[in-house]
Amino acid sequence: MVRIFKYKKTKLIITNNVQQILENHIQDKSAKNEAGGILLGQVIGNEFYLTKATEPNDLDKATRYSFERNKENAQIVVDYEYVNSNKRTIYLGEWHTHPEKIPSPSKRDIKMIKSQFKLGENLAAVIFLLIQGQNEFYVGICNGKKIRKMEEV
Ligand SMILES: [Zn+2]
Repeated sequence: MVRIFKYKKTKLIITNNVQQILENHIQDKSAKNEAGGILLGQVIGNEFYLTKATEPNDLDKATRYSFERNKENAQIVVDYEYVNSNKRTIYLGEWHTHPEKIPSPSKRDIKMIKSQFKLGENLAAVIFLLIQGQNEFYVGICNGKKIRKMEEV
Protein backbone atom coordinates (compact mmCIF):
# COMPACT_ATOMS: atom_id res chain seq x y z
CA MET A 1 0.00 0.00 0.00
CA VAL A 2 1.28 3.45 -0.83
CA ARG A 3 1.11 6.06 1.93
CA ILE A 4 0.21 9.63 1.05
CA PHE A 5 1.28 12.72 2.99
CA LYS A 6 0.22 16.29 2.44
CA TYR A 7 1.38 19.81 3.23
CA LYS A 8 -0.80 22.56 1.70
CA LYS A 9 -0.99 21.71 -2.02
CA THR A 10 1.98 19.37 -2.06
CA LYS A 11 1.42 15.63 -1.94
CA LEU A 12 4.07 13.03 -1.25
CA ILE A 13 3.35 9.48 -2.34
CA ILE A 14 5.58 6.91 -0.64
CA THR A 15 5.71 3.61 -2.47
CA ASN A 16 5.75 0.25 -0.77
CA ASN A 17 9.30 -0.35 -1.93
CA VAL A 18 10.56 2.73 -0.05
CA GLN A 19 8.57 1.89 3.10
CA GLN A 20 10.06 -1.60 3.08
CA ILE A 21 13.65 -0.38 2.93
CA LEU A 22 13.08 1.95 5.89
CA GLU A 23 11.29 -0.74 7.89
CA ASN A 24 14.19 -3.14 7.34
CA HIS A 25 16.39 -0.78 9.36
CA ILE A 26 14.11 -0.01 12.32
CA GLN A 27 16.26 0.32 15.46
CA ASP A 28 14.30 -2.20 17.47
CA LYS A 29 17.33 -3.73 19.18
CA SER A 30 19.82 -1.76 21.26
CA ALA A 31 22.75 -2.93 19.16
CA LYS A 32 21.34 -1.47 15.97
CA ASN A 33 22.95 1.75 14.77
CA GLU A 34 21.21 4.50 12.86
CA ALA A 35 20.96 3.82 9.14
CA GLY A 36 20.03 5.99 6.21
CA GLY A 37 20.36 7.00 2.62
CA ILE A 38 18.88 9.18 -0.05
CA LEU A 39 15.42 9.37 -1.57
CA LEU A 40 14.72 9.47 -5.28
CA GLY A 41 11.59 9.75 -7.35
CA GLN A 42 9.56 11.61 -9.88
CA VAL A 43 7.55 14.83 -9.85
CA ILE A 44 4.26 15.47 -11.60
CA GLY A 45 2.96 18.96 -10.82
CA ASN A 46 2.48 19.16 -7.04
CA GLU A 47 2.74 15.39 -6.61
CA PHE A 48 6.02 13.81 -5.60
CA TYR A 49 6.43 10.05 -5.99
CA LEU A 50 9.12 8.52 -3.82
CA THR A 51 10.06 5.41 -5.74
CA LYS A 52 13.52 4.63 -4.44
CA ALA A 53 15.49 4.77 -1.20
CA THR A 54 19.14 3.76 -1.18
CA GLU A 55 20.44 1.21 1.32
CA PRO A 56 23.14 2.15 3.82
CA ASN A 57 26.66 1.06 2.93
CA ASP A 58 30.01 0.48 4.60
CA LEU A 59 31.26 3.96 3.76
CA ASP A 60 28.56 5.64 5.88
CA LYS A 61 29.42 6.71 9.44
CA ALA A 62 26.79 5.36 11.79
CA THR A 63 26.38 5.12 15.55
CA ARG A 64 23.34 4.44 17.74
CA TYR A 65 22.52 8.18 17.75
CA SER A 66 24.02 9.58 14.58
CA PHE A 67 24.22 8.93 10.90
CA GLU A 68 26.30 10.55 8.20
CA ARG A 69 26.06 9.11 4.75
CA ASN A 70 28.87 8.85 2.24
CA LYS A 71 28.54 11.66 -0.31
CA GLU A 72 30.36 10.22 -3.32
CA ASN A 73 28.32 7.03 -3.31
CA ALA A 74 25.02 8.92 -3.21
CA GLN A 75 26.04 11.17 -6.08
CA ILE A 76 26.80 8.13 -8.25
CA VAL A 77 23.29 6.79 -7.61
CA VAL A 78 21.68 10.17 -8.34
CA ASP A 79 23.53 10.48 -11.65
CA TYR A 80 22.79 6.88 -12.65
CA GLU A 81 19.06 7.08 -11.91
CA TYR A 82 18.75 10.42 -13.68
CA VAL A 83 20.33 9.21 -16.90
CA ASN A 84 18.55 5.85 -16.86
CA SER A 85 15.09 7.34 -16.44
CA ASN A 86 15.31 9.85 -19.29
CA LYS A 87 15.98 12.57 -16.71
CA ARG A 88 12.73 11.87 -14.84
CA THR A 89 14.04 10.32 -11.63
CA ILE A 90 15.68 12.94 -9.43
CA TYR A 91 17.08 13.42 -5.94
CA LEU A 92 14.20 14.09 -3.53
CA GLY A 93 15.75 14.04 -0.09
CA GLU A 94 17.13 12.05 2.81
CA TRP A 95 16.05 9.28 5.14
CA HIS A 96 17.49 7.82 8.33
CA THR A 97 16.39 5.94 11.41
CA HIS A 98 16.03 7.10 15.02
CA PRO A 99 16.00 4.90 18.14
CA GLU A 100 12.73 6.44 19.40
CA LYS A 101 9.11 5.37 19.04
CA ILE A 102 7.72 8.56 17.50
CA PRO A 103 10.62 10.26 15.76
CA SER A 104 11.18 13.97 15.28
CA PRO A 105 14.07 15.76 13.58
CA SER A 106 17.03 16.91 15.69
CA LYS A 107 18.59 20.36 15.27
CA ARG A 108 21.34 18.67 13.33
CA ASP A 109 18.80 16.97 11.03
CA ILE A 110 17.17 20.32 10.25
CA LYS A 111 20.54 21.90 9.49
CA MET A 112 21.47 18.91 7.32
CA ILE A 113 18.31 18.95 5.18
CA LYS A 114 18.58 22.71 4.62
CA SER A 115 22.19 22.42 3.51
CA GLN A 116 21.29 19.48 1.23
CA PHE A 117 18.76 21.70 -0.46
CA LYS A 118 21.37 24.38 -1.04
CA LEU A 119 23.88 22.00 -2.58
CA GLY A 120 22.01 22.37 -5.84
CA GLU A 121 21.99 18.71 -6.67
CA ASN A 122 18.22 18.82 -6.42
CA LEU A 123 16.09 19.93 -9.32
CA ALA A 124 12.91 19.87 -7.26
CA ALA A 125 11.37 22.95 -5.60
CA VAL A 126 11.23 21.09 -2.28
CA ILE A 127 12.95 18.07 -0.77
CA PHE A 128 11.85 15.65 1.94
CA LEU A 129 13.17 14.24 5.19
CA LEU A 130 11.93 10.84 6.31
CA ILE A 131 12.83 9.56 9.76
CA GLN A 132 11.94 5.98 10.56
CA GLY A 133 11.24 5.51 14.26
CA GLN A 134 10.39 2.30 16.08
CA ASN A 135 6.61 2.72 15.69
CA GLU A 136 6.10 5.41 13.09
CA PHE A 137 7.89 7.57 10.64
CA TYR A 138 8.23 11.33 10.43
CA VAL A 139 7.80 13.10 7.10
CA GLY A 140 9.11 16.62 6.64
CA ILE A 141 9.09 18.94 3.63
CA CYS A 142 11.87 21.48 3.16
CA ASN A 143 11.93 24.48 0.84
CA GLY A 144 15.47 25.43 1.79
CA LYS A 145 14.39 27.90 4.48
CA LYS A 146 11.97 25.92 6.63
CA ILE A 147 11.02 22.35 7.33
CA ARG A 148 7.39 21.44 7.97
CA LYS A 149 5.77 18.23 9.12
CA MET A 150 3.52 16.59 6.54
CA GLU A 151 0.28 14.92 7.63
CA GLU A 152 -0.90 11.58 6.37
CA VAL A 153 -3.94 11.71 4.10
ZN1 LIG B 1 18.16 12.30 12.97
